[in-house]
Amino acid sequence: MKSIETDVLVLGAGTAGLTARRSVERAGKSALIADGGPLGTTCARVGCMPSKLLIAAARAADDAHRAALFGVRTTVEVDGSAVMERVRRERDRFVASVLEPLGPLEEAGVLLRGAGRFLEPGVVRIGDHTIVRAAAIVLATGTRPYVPPPYAALGDLVVTSDTVFDLTEIPKRLFVVGTGPIGLELGQAMSSLACEVTIVGTDGRIGPFHDPKMQAEARAVFGATLDIHPQITLESAVREGGVAKFVFVDPDGTRHTREADRVLVAAGRRAHWHELDLQHAGIPLDEGVPMVDPLTCQCGDAPVFVAGDANGFRPILHEAADDGHVAGANAARYPDVIAKARRTEMKIAFSDPQQAVVGMPWDRLDCDRHRVGEIDWRTQGRSQVDARALGRTRIYAEVDTARIVGAEMLGPAVEHLAHLLAWAIQAGVTVPQALAMPFYHPVVEEGLRTALVDLQAQLRLARPRGEPCEEFGPGG
Ligand SMILES: Cc1cc2nc3c(=O)[nH]c(=O)nc-3n(C[C@H](O)[C@H](O)[C@H](O)COP(=O)(O)OP(=O)(O)OC[C@H]3O[C@@H](n4cnc5c(N)ncnc54)[C@H](O)[C@@H]3O)c2cc1C
Repeated sequence: MKSIETDVLVLGAGTAGLTARRSVERAGKSALIADGGPLGTTCARVGCMPSKLLIAAARAADDAHRAALFGVRTTVEVDGSAVMERVRRERDRFVASVLEPLGPLEEAGVLLRGAGRFLEPGVVRIGDHTIVRAAAIVLATGTRPYVPPPYAALGDLVVTSDTVFDLTEIPKRLFVVGTGPIGLELGQAMSSLACEVTIVGTDGRIGPFHDPKMQAEARAVFGATLDIHPQITLESAVREGGVAKFVFVDPDGTRHTREADRVLVAAGRRAHWHELDLQHAGIPLDEGVPMVDPLTCQCGDAPVFVAGDANGFRPILHEAADDGHVAGANAARYPDVIAKARRTEMKIAFSDPQQAVVGMPWDRLDCDRHRVGEIDWRTQGRSQVDARALGRTRIYAEVDTARIVGAEMLGPAVEHLAHLLAWAIQAGVTVPQALAMPFYHPVVEEGLRTALVDLQAQLRLARPRGEPCEEFGPGG
């Protein structure tokens, strides 16, 4: 067994870990990074990039079908193997660009291959070949898809986001478990690619929304085109040969049966802390899970930091990279750690129409301090021109300052409009200031103006403090 000493050991060479390593080096300290799985990052291998490649193919098919709305006739044929071949080819290019700088790191002995396990505080065994002693440690070990037991029993009919992009054909019938962003993005894309799709969930929620009005909107919009059941009770899931058979019940008691050739389980992701022997790490644990400060990424007072999806705060790419910076910099300067202000929160789901949640979550709003303005996109000029007039956006502002604080959005061009609002929120822009900005005509941004004008009117409406209100309740 080899023994090495370093200033900082980073476990996990995903987005957070690679960023953490660079931050440590920038701070003039030595860093080793170890990874126990396939290299290339979740984002490039099995996450953001291949999912968007599949969605790009789905949008091409949708656009071809939609052409008839404008009087343009086409015949559409989906070549499933060509679709999946492009997804893999382009994905492999993204992965290759991540791997390129890692070869020299491995040759230099900075990148070690093997999973890390704690032996004692500051001491980690990598695989079965190296013991590393480090003054500080960054855990950037990510998460993995979780497959609930009734579905796990279906064996190799089950795919997750880790394996679905390796399919060489689009399945004929797909049963999707999970109505969150990943289940919805992939399930809807498969549906556009000539696959018969059923999407089910158990908690009644669709997509990223907390606002009950947005949840209702999402149910109406996606329910109109997808066989989607957000709150089922599963009665049975059995396998008969190459077919999975399901019986489930909706909340109103309606019983359904479905058959599928594949089952895509997108029922959440879990950190795999039990594999790290954290009981030897000298950090505070809550039922085996590290207790982490979101602003410093530190575990208690220990020289251990948790970055990226593993810490469970904001499991999206740019936040993983931010975490990596914070954790790496703090590991290098331990014990003099600093808290870093976070960016305005922004979550986007690349469904059609797209969904986004930015800024302050619905469950932190209250009647006395906040107001809501909204637009129903069905009434918006440019969206009607493009035959994309669907969905709703609700923008929240603070009564005392008129500052925009958050929004939940379902509609056209949401990936772009969400950025405009997130930037406005982070810059502390008020509703009157936003309305003083230029809006061209005819563009979808005019829809934001409609919601802001409504919000301005709501802000002017005095509601006596303490009066009961129907607007805000517990998150949906
Ligand atoms: C289908 C899908 C679509 C997504 N789409 C988007 C999107 O559109 N936009 C967006 O912002 N985000 C998206 N995400 C989320 C985004 O991919 C993640 O937030 C991000 O990749 C997390 O990076 P990370 O560094 O925390 O983890 P990872 O990239 O998963 O890295 C963790 C690494 O740790 C290694 N490891 C695990 N255990 C050990 C150990 N004991 N020792 C050493 N190494 C270990 C693993 O092998 C892995 O390489 C998507 C995710 C999925 C699954």
